[in-house]
Amino acid sequence: MNRGVTVRRMPLPVILAVDEDETSLRDIERELSDRYERSYRIVAVGSTPEAHEEVARLADAGEEIALALAGESLRDAPGSEFLVGVRKRHPQAQRGLLIDYAAWGHNPTGEVIFAAMARREIDYYVIRPTRAPDEMFHQAISTFLLEWSHARRLSSHTVHIVGESWAGRAHELREVLGRCALPHAFVLADSPEGRDLVADAGTATGLPLVVFPDGEVLVDPSNAELTIAAGGPVDPEGRDFDLVIIGAGPAGLSAAVYGASEGFSTLVIDSGGIGGQATLSSLIRNYLGFPRGISGRRLAEEAYEQAWVFGAHFAFMQQATGLKREEDRVVVALSDFADVNARAVILASGAAYRRLEVGDIESLAASGAGVFYGGPATEAPAMADRHVFVVGGANSAGQAALHLAEYARQVTIVVRASSLGAGMSHYLVEQVEAAPNITVRLETEVVGGGGEGWLERLILRSRSKSDAETVQADALFLMIGARPNTDWLPTEILRDDRGFIRTGIELADTPDWQLERAPLPLETSMPGVLAAGDVRDGSMNRVASAVGDGSIAVRLVHDLLATN
Ligand SMILES: Cc1cc2nc3c(=O)[nH]c(=O)nc-3n(C[C@H](O)[C@H](O)[C@H](O)COP(=O)(O)OP(=O)(O)OC[C@H]3O[C@@H](n4cnc5c(N)ncnc54)[C@H](O)[C@@H]3O)c2cc1C
Repeated sequence: MNRGVTVRRMPLPVILAVDEDETSLRDIERELSDRYERSYRIVAVGSTPEAHEEVARLADAGEEIALALAGESLRDAPGSEFLVGVRKRHPQAQRGLLIDYAAWGHNPTGEVIFAAMARREIDYYVIRPTRAPDEMFHQAISTFLLEWSHARRLSSHTVHIVGESWAGRAHELREVLGRCALPHAFVLADSPEGRDLVADAGTATGLPLVVFPDGEVLVDPSNAELTIAAGGPVDPEGRDFDLVIIGAGPAGLSAAVYGASEGFSTLVIDSGGIGGQATLSSLIRNYLGFPRGISGRRLAEEAYEQAWVFGAHFAFMQQATGLKREEDRVVVALSDFADVNARAVILASGAAYRRLEVGDIESLAASGAGVFYGGPATEAPAMADRHVFVVGGANSAGQAALHLAEYARQVTIVVRASSLGAGMSHYLVEQVEAAPNITVRLETEVVGGGGEGWLERLILRSRSKSDAETVQADALFLMIGARPNTDWLPTEILRDDRGFIRTGIELADTPDWQLERAPLPLETSMPGVLAAGDVRDGSMNRVASAVGDGSIAVRLVHDLLATN
């Protein structure tokens, strides 16, 4: 049944430009109006006071700024300072610093940009347009607008989840759609939009509802039903492959791109969807080729598409539950379907966060009721005006705190160590210390917490005080170290004492290696089975190194099959 989805008329989102150079402002206004006027309202002003007034007026009127552009140096303040103010009133606005073409490559301008990006004051820079049409300018503008629409879940393919609260089953369904790389939005059932969607769906009972853009409606579907409806494959279809990859995180997706592109019939199996831990990262800034940074989810979506167009097969919501060697094949057992087998297997099952297991923390986490394991990529916008806590002392905790600080009233990082620098990169420590709404509690642990249906309080114990202290808390993000996803593997796959898979030459002298030839670099103790990414003992825990491992593993599969 295709009833379509009711669309409420909203005022057009605004593209706001402020520049003191009259000619430049005229060029910017012309280029923006020519290209975007049907979908956005263009506002161009020549001074910072006017721009501030406009920002406040729009916020008070409930109108949204999608993109703000500001000249690098304005008379009253640097453009980046104005753009910080924009985010305070319009949390999802993209912010671009306008620079001259001639300034590109100049050290002083470069330094302004590096600093503003490091402090998250701007999203990127834009070179002022010159002759019309300036396609370079438009490429920058459309990238900003795409990022904004992703953050606002405004894609025309957005799936709506209608639920009674953010928590519980609605939260789990959002996670499933997130892992399948589908744009989705949560709508409260008793909001005007929620009531419209429920009325359009024509079903009197049952929440949460999942409403697809073509009008298809599912009432409280299972994860597998939702994945299938969303177009995600769950059945591997075939049984015999050249290469089976366990895990669709960065390592598995990379192996899929290389495996499929090099002519192997390739199957990727994941117990969730795509992207693995990377989907928890709101902005990966150190992955080659993405100077403005990229969210882990977007990176995974692009990689999935790339593997798919090379012909890789996928099976989501499938747990690999066993692995054995049978003559020249490796057999993988699956949770819901018959075994699949391959000439070679790449284990890219990564790692997952350790659990805190104190007070009511685990039950609140299970229903997404204010306690979240991993980064705040999805939850951050809902944290406006709240006091949130981040537990952890590594880079991922620093990134999470900085991202949350753009929305939340107050962010508190709770760390067991006696200094932030003990586990966090210097550049992140600097950013955390410079953020006015982040505080750090060193030598402190969360020892309890609870709330009625949503997290309300945490119990903290600090090394310097004998009594534990109860603090009011609106949300908790736990980034407390990872455990490898290797419990399901047979004992023939040798692991270190923490469970990470041992590979390569370090196996050569162990009794577990039984062939005459030396093991290949990423080969495990089961011949024909390689390991890539975070699941491997000695991995670098980076997206780039996982991707590198995935490509190397495929190169080694060629060698392995030639040797056999
Ligand atoms: C919050 C956060 C921020 C980060 N930020 C950055 C950053 O800025 N830069 C950077 O370089 N790195 C960053 N990282 C690290 C980076 O995300 C990881 O190093 C990378 O994702 C590892 O990739 P992987 O493919 O090895 O494993 P994972 O990403 O862990 O993927 C493993 C996949 O295997 C699946 N799986 C597990 N067991 C099974 C099974 N039995 N059957 C089927 N499937 C299974 C899982 O569902 C998962 O999808 C960050 C990590 C986190 C958590």
